[in-house]
Amino acid sequence: MENTKILSIRNVSKNYNSLQVLKKINLDIKRGEVVAIIGPSGSGKSTLLRCMNALETVNGGEIWFKDQCFTEKFKSYDRLRQDIGMVFQHFNLFPHMTVLKNIMISPLKVKKRPKEEMMAKALELLRIVGLEDKREVYPEMLSGGQKQRIAIARALAMEPEILLFDEPTSALDPEMVGEVLNTMKNLAESGMTMVVVTHEMGFAREVADRVVFMDEGIIMEEGTPKQIFEDTQNERVKAFLEKML
Ligand code: ADP
Ligand code: MG
Repeated sequence: MENTKILSIRNVSKNYNSLQVLKKINLDIKRGEVVAIIGPSGSGKSTLLRCMNALETVNGGEIWFKDQCFTEKFKSYDRLRQDIGMVFQHFNLFPHMTVLKNIMISPLKVKKRPKEEMMAKALELLRIVGLEDKREVYPEMLSGGQKQRIAIARALAMEPEILLFDEPTSALDPEMVGEVLNTMKNLAESGMTMVVVTHEMGFAREVADRVVFMDEGIIMEEGTPKQIFEDTQNERVKAFLEKML
């Protein structure tokens, strides 16, 4: 793994009115790294993730993508969101477009590449997520797991440098969780830089290089999966993990 920082969160705070949701968070993401963010509901995981691609503004601190600070006087959020993609809990596919069109629409509009090139790319991505046979199908014909795999393919079509996932399997029926986690595992193995908010402790343990435990707006503990899942001395972390297992 390369050791270069690609995303750097420095002393980031975020309030909603009088509620301080993030309290001076510091976190660096390295290129090629897979970071799992775990922690109780309401601890600020989604807010932190949304700050990472400027879907939220911050109230204090800075976030750097490579050599650019984007939390102050920054103009090019569209470009930033191409570089830092996001996969949501609810897949947000366009219902009136086929699977292929869903994958191609943003790159066609934004990247202005030739249609043939984008088509080849989309088909390659469909192969990667194992859904080549669904290219002409509309989203309503897909299972939840298939929809989420298409959403991942759609995010990849923008060729992001980092992919953020906010509980990508939480809206799925249990029997579909595995296929989505598998797709994500393959992506991780291909070298993609990923930040994954998840309640899937098995995934965090097996796939993540680093696990971050958030509680009440702070990073209470971070470390390797072994440090978090086997060696933690922190009572809050222990109590949380006991509930999750
Ligand atoms: P998590 O993803 O860990 O469950 P969130 O980041 O969604 O936590 O939320 C952290 C806290 O911020 C919660 O108390 C939540 O109610 C609050 N919150 C999140 N989004 C908003 C919002 N848009 N307006 C007001 N409060 C919010
Ligand atoms: Mg959340």
